Amino acid sequence: MRILVSNDDGYTAPGLQALVDALEGLGELTVVAPETNCSGSSNSLTLNRPLWAHQAANGFHYVNGTPSDCVHIALTGMLDFRPDLIVSGINNGANMGDDTLYSGTVAAATEGYLFGIPAIAFSLVDRGWKHLDAASRVARDVVERYLAQPLDAPLLLNVNIPAVPYDAIDGMRVTRLGKRHPSQPVVKSTTPYGEPVYWIGPVGSVSDAAPDTDFGAVKELAVSITPLRFDLTHHEQLQDIQRWAAPLCVSP
Ligand code: MN
Repeated sequence: MRILVSNDDGYTAPGLQALVDALEGLGELTVVAPETNCSGSSNSLTLNRPLWAHQAANGFHYVNGTPSDCVHIALTGMLDFRPDLIVSGINNGANMGDDTLYSGTVAAATEGYLFGIPAIAFSLVDRGWKHLDAASRVARDVVERYLAQPLDAPLLLNVNIPAVPYDAIDGMRVTRLGKRHPSQPVVKSTTPYGEPVYWIGPVGSVSDAAPDTDFGAVKELAVSITPLRFDLTHHEQLQDIQRWAAPLCVSP
């Protein structure tokens, strides 16, 4: 079992080391992670410059690119093997609901999924690494479960872990993504030179935290496991748009 490990907080992040330590003995681990913090980078690839990969003293490979870059180059020629599993994290903060779209942690896993490799993203719900040891044990539990019973279907799991002691975690729940209200307003400021600058505002408050959602699970101290896929087609709307676009679809 060869496991590729990545993240979006960068190769020096405590969550990455914790994930590697947690998975010790479960397979041959290779780390390819961003050089710097790339949280919020989503699935972006760097196309306007080359990427280099260096190896740190602890053996971790680090790349001057995004999480998607890391997994992409790892799978397309940097490594001389194809991993059996990709894990990402453990992220410093939740990746639930709409935030999942922006997440670099989920993106690293998604890149593997797009290449047909099972992938699991792990996030610790509160920022600051509190109870990272408990999150590590959860990550090991999930990976052990996968190794005990691998699934044939393509697999992309988004796992969010409440930041509480291991014994306080109330089991695991399979969930759907919840929803947030739109982000709060941008924060306007001025540079010392008089130029206006804008900081993206904080996330909006949660609008759908029903018990079957990721928000709902972690609120009740359960680990949330959401299976994801990346068909963005709005299947239910196909017929409506077919009718709407009919005049446009007629050949001249
Ligand atoms: Mn992050």
